[in-house]
Amino acid sequence: MRILLVEDDPLLGDGVQAGLRQAGFAADWVRDGIAARTALSTESFAALVLDLGLPRLSGLELLRGLRAAHDPIPVLILTARDTVAERILGLDAGADDYLVKPFDLDELSARLRALLRRSAGSPDPVLRVGRIELDPAAHGVRMDGQPVELSAREFALLHELMTHAGRVLSRRQLEERLYPWGEEVESNAVEVHVHHLRRKLDPRLIRTIRGVGYLLAAPGA
Ligand code: CA
Repeated sequence: MRILLVEDDPLLGDGVQAGLRQAGFAADWVRDGIAARTALSTESFAALVLDLGLPRLSGLELLRGLRAAHDPIPVLILTARDTVAERILGLDAGADDYLVKPFDLDELSARLRALLRRSAGSPDPVLRVGRIELDPAAHGVRMDGQPVELSAREFALLHELMTHAGRVLSRRQLEERLYPWGEEVESNAVEVHVHHLRRKLDPRLIRTIRGVGYLLAAPGA
């Protein structure tokens, strides 16, 4: 899942980005509100982690602009001080959740997983499609109840396909969701991961829709 982090403090930004990547998110990091607005308008992110005190355009202004444009992206705000007023402003401007600095990176990841669940409309923390179960928190995959070893990228790809089961995702969409900026993407990377997933799980699990993309069919489809 691709996450955009907006934080102007270099140490904190660096640490949070590393922590999110460690937790399996494809996390990108920008340091001001204008850069965030540009990134959001050109690429698709699953969620936004937003500091409120930012140069050029404040987090609150950015958030209000997104919601005024009916952008439904889940937003978690980071508030610098433990002031109730700032949190209320943020929540009323359209934030879905907040954390007060300093915060625990594991808690941030858990809250993001909860936000992503809610935005996908699936309250169950474990994704299930047919014989496959995927647990985003434990980073585990089972088929017919048996654990299956996947690489981090295979796991991320399966996670995307299961989240959007029954819908076709293009190669470009998958690349965008799996690879943060600055990471080299081989032209056939997605194809190779799909091949491995088919081999490790079920050859018929992921369908190739020629010229369009890939589909993980919902059971019975
Ligand atoms: Ca700040």
